[in-house]
Amino acid sequence: SSEQRPYKRVLLKLSGEVLMGETSYGVDPETINRLAREIIEVQNAGVELAIVIGGGNIFRGMSGTASGMDRASADYMGMLATVMNSIALQDAIERNGATVRVISALHIREIAEPYIRRRAVRHLEKGRILIFAAGTGNPYFTTDTAASLRAMEIQADAVIKGTKVDGVYTSDPAKNPDAIRYETLTFTEALTKRLGVMDATAMSLCRDNHMPIVVFDVTTPGQMLKAVSGEPVGTLVQE
Ligand code: UDP
Repeated sequence: SSEQRPYKRVLLKLSGEVLMGETSYGVDPETINRLAREIIEVQNAGVELAIVIGGGNIFRGMSGTASGMDRASADYMGMLATVMNSIALQDAIERNGATVRVISALHIREIAEPYIRRRAVRHLEKGRILIFAAGTGNPYFTTDTAASLRAMEIQADAVIKGTKVDGVYTSDPAKNPDAIRYETLTFTEALTKRLGVMDATAMSLCRDNHMPIVVFDVTTPGQMLKAVSGEPVGTLVQE
């Protein structure tokens, strides 16, 4: 395969839920602080790092539509939730001593830079950590799709997706004790078997553009560095 680790430039996708830690809503200060330190550890290992953060710990478009909201309006609320998470993560990373920029797909000039691809790449070259806020800026999309899109745009070597499970399983490991973790998986297999790597839009984007995804457990300290260093953690999805 063409896939090579350690990676030089990665797109880290964090779901909003991982920011909650053991709580049931919002941002847990200890958890975000730990994540910030791990992110800096990855950067100190010489990896250029851009982050896409979700918003599910605050608001999801689908839950808005379930209560009767217009889908696009609900999705814009979801995007704003990702902006809040981005600012929280920026703050935590800064307090731990690294330089970081929030770049938003929606214009919120007072708190985030607008997304300009070449400027984003320049930030990375200068050693700054990037946080991409507001997803793709479009309703009907997800932050997984934003992660895939931005990974391609900045020519990342891989998307590393931090979740609460340590990879992709043959079935839900929480429900089925016989579930087996895949060490590697193809996009086509993940799509046809409907394995929960990312949504189909995000996965087909990665498949068509040869962008590997590493799914790893971000709740266990140390796994993030291992995932970018090429140690066999989680599941590698590639063509
Ligand atoms: N969202 C959107 N367009 C995007 C990215 C996100 O409309 O490009 C909205 C969508 O409503 C979604 C919410 O923002 O439910 C939060 O993002 P997501 O569900 O992907 O967050 P995660 O599950 O990763 O926490």
